[in-house]
Amino acid sequence: GRSAALRARMEERLLSARFRYINQQLYTSPSREAARLFRSDPQAFHIYHRGFARQVGRWPENPLHRIVRLLRRRPASLVVADFGCGDCTLARSLRNKVHCFDLVPLSPLVTVCDMAQVPLAAEAVDVVVFCLALMGTNLQEILEEANRVLKPGGTLLVAEVASRFEDMRAFLSAMALLGFKSVSK
Ligand code: SAH
Repeated sequence: GRSAALRARMEERLLSARFRYINQQLYTSPSREAARLFRSDPQAFHIYHRGFARQVGRWPENPLHRIVRLLRRRPASLVVADFGCGDCTLARSLRNKVHCFDLVPLSPLVTVCDMAQVPLAAEAVDVVVFCLALMGTNLQEILEEANRVLKPGGTLLVAEVASRFEDMRAFLSAMALLGFKSVSK
């Protein structure tokens, strides 16, 4: 009994370590590399998602739930694109049309693609969401893609761990250069 418990605990630790390692890779390499990583090692994706769910489950609030509440207060006619949608909780929580993009299909609702290049026409959506998914070192390319698919005057919603920002003011001014006006933080 004790050795089984020990083994289970060690396995948990290894999974957590692999999650943190993959997470760090996603934040520190170009999005194309992330696509390649998950294609070459589909198991990594499942480990990542188990770790992700466990991590978010420990937080006092999942930012995705806040985004759901925020969008439910706006018309259901708004078209949404969820960049890095994970298990498509957003799409399943709203009546809106939600385009779900991720590297691997955790749900049949997912369109598999690299979010630097999504299969949508220009000015196709009212809202783009990045919930804990603004990953990759080619952020400029990714945000330009969000800008391309957004209608003029559309809304970009970003939820990210504060410590991921080296300099919030620099981020906001870079966002302004890309054409986004900060409405609320
Ligand atoms: N937004 C979801 C999932 C966040 S986890 C939620 O809040 O629950 C981050 C997600 O971004 C993962 O599913 C990961 O596969 C995805 N992702 C990371 N880089 C990506 C890329 N280049 N293109 C598409 N999806 C990406």
